[in-house]
Amino acid sequence: MSEFDPAEHDVSELGPKVQSIDDPEELRALLEAERDGENRDAVITVIESRLERVTDDDGEEEEAEIDLGSMSVADIGNAIRDVDDPDRLRDLREREVEGEERDTVLRLIDRRLDSVEGDEEGETGGAETDRDPPEERHPELDHPTADKRHVRALEDGTYRDMWVYCETQAGDLLDVSREMLGKARELMDGYNDEYVENAVEDRADEDHERVVAVLIGDDVADHADECIALGADVVVYHEDDRLARFQHKPYTEVFADVARWGADPPARDEDRGVAPPDDADWRDYDEPRYVLFPATHNGRDLSALVQAELDSGLASDCSGLFIDDVGISNPVKTGAPGTTRTFERVLHMKRPDFSGFEYSTILCLDNPDREFHPQGGSVIPGSFDVPDPDPDREGEVIEHEGDLDDDWFRVEVTEFDRLAGGVDLSGHDVVVAVGRGIGDDPTRGMELALDLADAFEDAAVGVSRGIVTGSYSFDGHVEEYTAEERQIGETGQVVEPDVYVAAGISGAVQHKVGCDESDTIIAVNTDPEARIHDWCDYFVEGDLFEVLPRLIDAVEAGGLDAEAIADGGGGVTPGADPATDGGGANE
Ligand code: FAD
Repeated sequence: MSEFDPAEHDVSELGPKVQSIDDPEELRALLEAERDGENRDAVITVIESRLERVTDDDGEEEEAEIDLGSMSVADIGNAIRDVDDPDRLRDLREREVEGEERDTVLRLIDRRLDSVEGDEEGETGGAETDRDPPEERHPELDHPTADKRHVRALEDGTYRDMWVYCETQAGDLLDVSREMLGKARELMDGYNDEYVENAVEDRADEDHERVVAVLIGDDVADHADECIALGADVVVYHEDDRLARFQHKPYTEVFADVARWGADPPARDEDRGVAPPDDADWRDYDEPRYVLFPATHNGRDLSALVQAELDSGLASDCSGLFIDDVGISNPVKTGAPGTTRTFERVLHMKRPDFSGFEYSTILCLDNPDREFHPQGGSVIPGSFDVPDPDPDREGEVIEHEGDLDDDWFRVEVTEFDRLAGGVDLSGHDVVVAVGRGIGDDPTRGMELALDLADAFEDAAVGVSRGIVTGSYSFDGHVEEYTAEERQIGETGQVVEPDVYVAAGISGAVQHKVGCDESDTIIAVNTDPEARIHDWCDYFVEGDLFEVLPRLIDAVEAGGLDAEAIADGGGGVTPGADPATDGGGANE
């Protein structure tokens, strides 16, 4: 029997716990408990893969020390670095040919063989790397990407500039577009200082790489001047009445065509006998070096499709960006195990990981014989400041023309309605926010939040994303308070009240950024190690179903008011929590 109940933990907590279990029986018990209980797909996958790993470790180890089938290319590269026996390497090669036959793995093994046999000519024990395309090697299989026009990325392509997709809605430029232009300007100014001016003493202005704003829609050229004032050197726009509303197919086709400027497929590969793209006075490169999209609903949609169409990668939902060189020793990127390659001018894209507690930096790096450009990311709205516009800035405005295929317009909007104003949580003295801690009785939890808000003179109720995405069922009278429009955090609203009460909220970084400018933050949580403990002012260790009624009583009895709490008075003093004896202050 497992020592803990998986239902008491969320996926981010369960991951590390499950990884520490080596006993297959315990893992099976855990799996059963999850299936009988919450039955969450992600949790089941985590337990199953751990089970697979520990049973593999127990079982077939001696037959296959390096189990090619279950390893990533990078892991294989690292593992064969220690293999000095050519026969063993040949055996591995044979197994890979019989198995997945990955070109990269075969190349890694061949290189290792070269190195252990000291044969500079590339002797590979009689076996040559098979570079035939997969369609020829496996004609019996379906190859859905074989007809994709741009399935091959560039080799030795030329890349320049940072592109920013400037989204508009209902005729207005979105703030996130302005924020990205400001950030792109800052990044490219730094880039030009570092890589252009330092490298070329006598540099000409045209050596500078630029910020290129891309506008797609109807009447979008009207925004060109503002884009230039905010930092763009060039604005490229495509206008068509049919693009008045975002539709992913035509928008993707237009953006990808603008990025390649008509090259079809990448025109640099002359062997493929492809006509060069139309001449463009304003650009002399194959594809953008970097591209930024907004992480809005439409921007997320477009960014994924465009980057797939351009055969590159995407770091989604980023909130930090910088450009720097980086040394990488992953053999998939260097081409040879045990070596380090310096990649220059890499866009470092920081985004919160899925647990919400750590940041990851995503890099989009070329492989030895395949390039990944543009390096692209989508940016969370609110991550950067809107720059002050400079009306004296000058820039070039370019119209991209081209026919739009009627088949691209697969959706016809016959009617639409505009959402009413929405809920504005800003400007209140107090905000009471609840999270998944209300899970035992969600409706009661929301009622308590509403009662506490009512007890103050001017308070609003908000929720964490855990509530918005959770599958709780609420009674009708509280349901409206659980909607996404009340979400606080990175992808929700940002509030700065005098007092912020966070009940049953763990304190993920994405939540924190929506409330940490509040004067005083009071957390109510059963777990003394919850992250919010690190950044709240007062931490009440306790069950919100017990603590909130006491807080309500105290406020109603006049023992607590927002101003007094924010000042550290009104019954809340450092070292003593406002409603229970179990808490403490962090200041
Ligand atoms: P949990 O993390 O599950 O925490 C529940 C807490 O309640 C725990 O600390 C637990 O100890 C406590 N608890 C349990 N029972 C009780 C009880 N009876 N009494 C008191 N305490 C109890 N999140 C946001 O909130 N806003 C955002 O804008 C946002 N944007 C995101 C954007 C991205 C790109 C990503 C990847 C994530 C985003 N998230 C956002 C999600 C975020 O990472 C967290 O998953 C989310 O905030 C967790 O919500 P929670 O704190 O309610 O739930």
